[in-house]
Amino acid sequence: MSTFLSKPKNTILHRCQNDESTRARLKYQPWYHHIERQQGSRIWIDGRELLMMTSNDYLGLSENPKVIEAGQRALKDWGTSTTGARPANGSRTIHSRLEQKLAAFLGKEACQITAAGYLSCMAAVATFATKGDLILVDRNVHSSLWSGIMLSGARTERFAHNNPTDLREALGHEDKALPKLLILEGIYSMEGHIARLPELIKETQGHNCFTIMDDAHGFGVLGKNGEGTAAHFGMTADVDIICGSFSKSLSSTGGFIAASSALIEYLRTHSKQTIFSAAISPSQAACAEAALDILQSDPTIRTRLWDNTTYYKKILTDLGIDYWGSESPAVPIVIGETERAYRVWKKLYDLGIFTILAIAPGVPPGKDLLRTAVSARHTHEELDRVGEALAKTLKKS
Ligand code: PMP
Repeated sequence: MSTFLSKPKNTILHRCQNDESTRARLKYQPWYHHIERQQGSRIWIDGRELLMMTSNDYLGLSENPKVIEAGQRALKDWGTSTTGARPANGSRTIHSRLEQKLAAFLGKEACQITAAGYLSCMAAVATFATKGDLILVDRNVHSSLWSGIMLSGARTERFAHNNPTDLREALGHEDKALPKLLILEGIYSMEGHIARLPELIKETQGHNCFTIMDDAHGFGVLGKNGEGTAAHFGMTADVDIICGSFSKSLSSTGGFIAASSALIEYLRTHSKQTIFSAAISPSQAACAEAALDILQSDPTIRTRLWDNTTYYKKILTDLGIDYWGSESPAVPIVIGETERAYRVWKKLYDLGIFTILAIAPGVPPGKDLLRTAVSARHTHEELDRVGEALAKTLKKS
């Protein structure tokens, strides 16, 4: 029997039922759509066709026959799951082969793959930062890195987004010998900005600083061959850890952490996310491997991606749309205030354009936006359609 005579208000259930964010989500319904069918850049919801502008399938490989075939073959060869973590249940050939290929591609000695980018990025921070260290973090980094920061117990200083001067100030009074970690994204997922890596690293010189970069959105997009942001700047050796996701350019699911052999062996000994979580499924690893092979052998896909990105941004510029100075295929459409952002999102949706509504605290206050992303698979005609829908929508909202 309950020990409470009247219904208490401080229960977990009461808190959940009265949560403002959940109420707003259920009121507006802009997230968690049920997609019935998809084909290339087209999706169907309630029987209606929409143009997908939110997918991070930058290279458009998610329906590539070679990628699909690799996944099917791995399912047949290895079954559906390893049903356990690698220290206990062992790695499969596909895991080790993909790790070797990724390490070589990224210019690092070793790599560890996991079942999700979130897990990889969280582990990258939580494993190497510890109590007594100082973390210097760009205030706009992804939630996975914040989760790692919270687990680490290290003291944390945030610096203004992509701002070397602010980083210098944060470092100003600190003991130079104290172990520090600089935490960045390569391409910022919401803003589309490229990290100002040369200037930021320069500020940390002489400060005993270790650099971790989440390159989920730079991988496959930047660099001469798609190796990512560190390679783009010729600074691979300056970034100690490169982590990221398979759910963008590699059109699979999973994540990676690439670094020196010493660091990866330390991670295999200490990372709870690695030791106590089941391996990425062999079929997902095989899809990522096939996509990596295609990315390396066909540079025309990246050329198409960048051509589409330039084309799309010209449309937005001509319409006078604020896209937050995005320097990449991740392109926000900044609206500002939440109610208006929702109205614009809904009108675009009604006109057959599928975007993501991103509101504070997911983005800085006053920067509520619709996130869009360009893929190599989009056609110019499709991007024109987005422009036409935006022109109609923004005038009236
Ligand atoms: N880092 C960044 C910058 C991301 O955008 C994401 C995914 N949105 C992740 C990490 C997590 O990756 P995953 O979806 O593979 O868990």
